[in-house]
Amino acid sequence: MGVSAYLDHAATTPMRREAVEAMLPFLDERFANPSGAHRMARDARRAVDDARDRFAALLGARPGEVVFTSGGTESDNLAVFGAGRAGADGPVPSAPADLTARLGTVVCSAVEHHAVLDPVLALGGRTVAVDRTGRLDLDDLDEVLWAEAARAAAGESAGVRLVSVMAANNEVGTLQPLGDVAEIVRRHAPGAVLHTDAVQAFCWADVAELCSVADLVSISAHKFGGPKGVGVLVVRDGVALSPRQLGGGQERGRRSGTQNVAGIVAAAVAAGLTVEARPAEVERVAKLRDRLLDGLVASVPGLVETGAVVGPGGPDRTGRVPGVAHVCIEGVESEALLFLLERAEVFASAASSCSSGALEASHVLAAMGVPSELRAGSLRLSLGWSTTDAEVDHALAALPPAVERLRAVGL
Ligand code: PLP
Repeated sequence: MGVSAYLDHAATTPMRREAVEAMLPFLDERFANPSGAHRMARDARRAVDDARDRFAALLGARPGEVVFTSGGTESDNLAVFGAGRAGADGPVPSAPADLTARLGTVVCSAVEHHAVLDPVLALGGRTVAVDRTGRLDLDDLDEVLWAEAARAAAGESAGVRLVSVMAANNEVGTLQPLGDVAEIVRRHAPGAVLHTDAVQAFCWADVAELCSVADLVSISAHKFGGPKGVGVLVVRDGVALSPRQLGGGQERGRRSGTQNVAGIVAAAVAAGLTVEARPAEVERVAKLRDRLLDGLVASVPGLVETGAVVGPGGPDRTGRVPGVAHVCIEGVESEALLFLLERAEVFASAASSCSSGALEASHVLAAMGVPSELRAGSLRLSLGWSTTDAEVDHALAALPPAVERLRAVGL
C-alpha cells in the first residue's frame, strides 16, 4: 500500500487494538444483558461495573457519578436538557419561554459543538462571545451572568440554570479557561450547574482536573481510541438531572436502555491507555503539529494559521490542544481542496461538515471573526495516537501542489 495520512482524529480515531480485543468476548460468549438476574447477566453487569470504576478513577469521580450513554451527543443533550430543565413536568419540555421564566436561563459559549449549541438554543438560551483565538470572552460571560442575576433579583426571571463551556474546541482546538469560568459562575449564579463538553479534551488535558470544577462532564469513546456509540456523562452527586429516556431505569434511572456492554468495556480500556500515555503523547503530537503547521505556513503562500498567537519566541500554541492544526487558505475552496487531498491519500476535514458529509458554514470561525473569504478555505488537520512522522511528511508534500493546482484553475 502507498503512503497515506489519516489526519482526521478530531472526527474519529482508529480503535486501539487492546480495546478491540477487550470488546470481542462481550460480542460473543459473554453476551448477556447486564440487567438480568442470572449468572451470565451478573457477569455482564460486573464488566460494566468494573468499567464504571475505571472511568471513575480516571475522571476523579465516584462510580455512582458515571453515567454511560451512547456518545458525546447524548451526553451533551442529557446535560443541557436534563439539568437545564430538571424539575419541568416530564421529559419533553413545554414552551421554552414559560420554562425559562420558571426554571432559569441556559447559557453556553458561541463556539460549542452543535450537540450543546442546538439544545441551548432550543431552550431559548444565550450565547457568550469568544475572542479571535476562540477563547471565551470572560468579560462577556461576567456581563451575561450579571445581567441575568439582576433580572432575577427584580423578579423578572429565575436566574441562570446552566452554563455550558467546552473544554477544547473541535474545529480549532482552543482550550477554554474553565477555572475562571467556574469562578464567574459561582460568583454571579451560585445555583447554576456548570457543564463542560470534554469530548475533544480527553486525549490532551487532565480531565479529572476539569471534573473538579464542573458539575457535569461529557466524553466520547471514539475520540480516544474506543468504539463509536459509547459516551460518559459525569453527574456530580447532588446535581438535579431529569432523564431524557424513560424505560428500564438503568444507570440509576438517569439513562434507561440496555447498556452497550462490549462498547463500555472497550471504552474503559482505551481511556486507561490514553490517560497513561497522555504526558508523552502531548509532547510527541505537539511536535508533529508544530512541524506540520510551520511547514505549511512556509510552503503555501496565503495560508494562515487560524487564530494564531505570536509570542516573543514565535508561534505560541499553548492555548490549543496538540491534536488540531487548523488553517485557512486564501483563494481556495475547502471542498475542492479536500477532494484533491483525498486523491493524494490525505484524509482531513474542513471541520464543519454535517452528517451528510456536505460542508456547512462554520459558526466557530464566524464567532472568532475570521473573514468570510478566508473561512471558505478552511482546513482542519487533526492528529492523534496513531499519527506518525511519515504521515506528517506526506501531508506536507501533498498540500502545496494541491493548492497550486486549485489556484491555477480558480477553485
Ligand atoms: N462534542 C464535541 C466537542 C465533539 O467534537 C463531538 C464529535 O465530533 C461531539 C460532541 C459529539 O460526539 P459523538 O460523535 O460521540 O456523538
